[in-house]
Amino acid sequence: MNGPCILVIEDDAPVRNLITTTLEAHGYRYITAATGQAAILAASTSMPDVIFLDLGLPDMDGTEVIRRVRTWSDLPIIVISARSEESDKIEALDSGADDYLTKPFSVEELLARLRATLRRLESLRRKHAEGESPVFADGPLRIDYAAGEVRLGEEPVHLTRIEFKLLCLLSQNPDKVLTYRFITQNVWGDSSESSMASLRVFMASLRRKIDMDPEQPLIRTHIGIGYRLNRKEAL
Ligand code: CA
Repeated sequence: MNGPCILVIEDDAPVRNLITTTLEAHGYRYITAATGQAAILAASTSMPDVIFLDLGLPDMDGTEVIRRVRTWSDLPIIVISARSEESDKIEALDSGADDYLTKPFSVEELLARLRATLRRLESLRRKHAEGESPVFADGPLRIDYAAGEVRLGEEPVHLTRIEFKLLCLLSQNPDKVLTYRFITQNVWGDSSESSMASLRVFMASLRRKIDMDPEQPLIRTHIGIGYRLNRKEAL
């Protein structure tokens, strides 16, 4: 087997077994760790492609694992957290996690997150090999970053400067949850109350202009956490 290798960091044995059984059944390789220390060691020695990380570990906080791994690697980290760890989830995303799953989760959800992450990884690797693309194209949406032009099919979309900045930021991090704080820092340079309020207003106006299909929105809200731009086409 030479499918992608997933490092599963989880101290709860039944949950860990559910994850590894699912991975195995779908052709993924895996390694496991039940503590933060073991996880950091495994991440550096086994070169996994993706990490699943439980935030509540016996010896250290999961966000600490993220911070340590991020000092030398940008491999994708999908956080797994209980609902009571909502604020930890935001901290984890801000520390460099790529995505999250909330317990209890379904096997389908787990696999969907993993596929989205692997797709993103693949397109990052390609981008790295080919150089940054000046254009984002997905479904009917086309963004020309340099020209500052956005089209939906044949129709030009007129965005304000801030709306365009928001769309650029989201589309340059596709299939990834961006926290409110990350977005406001990038667009307004701070995460004050007024920037948070502006974000809600500009995001609403951006969505009115580009999200025509309410059944399959391009931009998804993660309530209390942030926003994610979902590519419609699997790459
Ligand atoms: Ca745990």
